[in-house]
Amino acid sequence: MAKALISIDYTYDFVADDGKLTAGKPAQAISETIAQAVQKAYNNGDYIFFAIDGHDEGDTFHPETKLFPPHNIKGTSGRNLYGPLADFYQKYRDDHRVFWIDKRHYSAFSGTDLDIRLRERRIDTLVLTGVLTDICVLHTAIDAYNLGYQIEVIQSAVASLSQENHQFALNHLQNVLGATIIE
Ligand code: ZN
Repeated sequence: MAKALISIDYTYDFVADDGKLTAGKPAQAISETIAQAVQKAYNNGDYIFFAIDGHDEGDTFHPETKLFPPHNIKGTSGRNLYGPLADFYQKYRDDHRVFWIDKRHYSAFSGTDLDIRLRERRIDTLVLTGVLTDICVLHTAIDAYNLGYQIEVIQSAVASLSQENHQFALNHLQNVLGATIIE
């Protein structure tokens, strides 16, 4: 069976100092490791899925509108990948093992065709990377768990705004969702 690395929301708005919903320094600190993890997975022959928030400007019906400032608005540079991960995508974007999926909610599965694409390729194990550990990474993992996927999380390639929430999420991933935590 095959494996896919899911790279979640590592974009300008979530990472850069002046990003619209930034996790700041903890997120910036993983810019090298997340890019290395993606390159290594690609070199191993794994599939790479970029699952990236894409919101519409002024979407008053979206539940996040009440919770967070506008972020990752379609057509803005806030959705550009941050750091060397952007270089990877530029180089491999047309490769048949590299995909970009616009997501609407926290989970990469919610309202997307991710599950179908994974099943078509007989992928049974997902390696999760990106931000934020306790929001989009965790919600993606919960859906993956419910759909029967094996989950791995690369600890040095996920980050959150608060260390407390980051640690809670890693514990939950390991102890409740059965994820393997990889350094
Ligand atoms: Zn969002």
